[in-house]
Amino acid sequence: MQDLIERAAQAIRTARKTIALTGAGISAESGIPTFRDPGGLWDRYDPEEYATIEAFRRDPGKVWRMMKDFTELKTALPNPGHFGLAHLEQLGLLHCIITQNVDNLHQAAGSRDVIEFHGNMRQVVCMSCRKVLPLDEISLKTLPSYCSCGGVFKPAGVFFGEPIPPYALYRSQEEAQSCDLILVIGTSAVVYPAADIPRVAKEAGAQVIEINPEHTDLTDWLADLIIQEKAGIAIPQIIAAIKAIAS
Ligand code: NAD
Repeated sequence: MQDLIERAAQAIRTARKTIALTGAGISAESGIPTFRDPGGLWDRYDPEEYATIEAFRRDPGKVWRMMKDFTELKTALPNPGHFGLAHLEQLGLLHCIITQNVDNLHQAAGSRDVIEFHGNMRQVVCMSCRKVLPLDEISLKTLPSYCSCGGVFKPAGVFFGEPIPPYALYRSQEEAQSCDLILVIGTSAVVYPAADIPRVAKEAGAQVIEINPEHTDLTDWLADLIIQEKAGIAIPQIIAAIKAIAS
């Protein structure tokens, strides 16, 4: 494992432009269940009934009541994986993060350039006038909550059946095509189009480093270096190795 960590450190040090794609796994050590973990949110709630835009339009109050139950999303704090990526950015060794997560933990850890591919559940958006507000600025006493324009507020995460925010989609493609190293961290890489980002980078000539304790769809055919470890352990070790090389 130490050999793999040192190879990753060397690759990051010498790359011209490194980006990271993160998924639910990087927040698992912050106590937020991943999509497919046993005991996670989707064991309790059928995504078809709660996570699609049709379900929200059909019964916004029901989806909001489920959201209130997802307390981990409100109380979670960043872990060493999030802090490590923020540190890499400060060192000038990480250009940006493309995240599929909706938990705001990269920003809470201090990362500045975070492309939120699936929006952000700590904000709400009005379905009529598209005004965006922080979640804690609206009342959740009666659900759903309404905007002053009369429109219903929706959590600002991207629901199944909704388009990816155009800016996030455009920038992710740009960054994937112009990087020479992509770190793929804590994603099962099965939710498209996010799962396509490592392939776009690879086809443009980038190296792919995967950090994930489990085997994924990318492990066999796309990753050049596979670190089968938790993000909160592997990322600080890589940073320590980068510093050791530099000293
Ligand atoms: P996923 O649940 O499909 O896969 C999670 C991956 O993380 C798995 O491959 C697992 O092996 C790996 N993993 C688990 N613990 C890890 C750790 N400590 N370090 C590194 N890797 C670890 O998640 P996904 O691929 O992101 O897709 C799920 C979708 O659900 C995403 O689109 C995301 O928007 C959404 N989601 C977000 C959150 C969040 O914001 N925190 C949580 C759950 C789901």
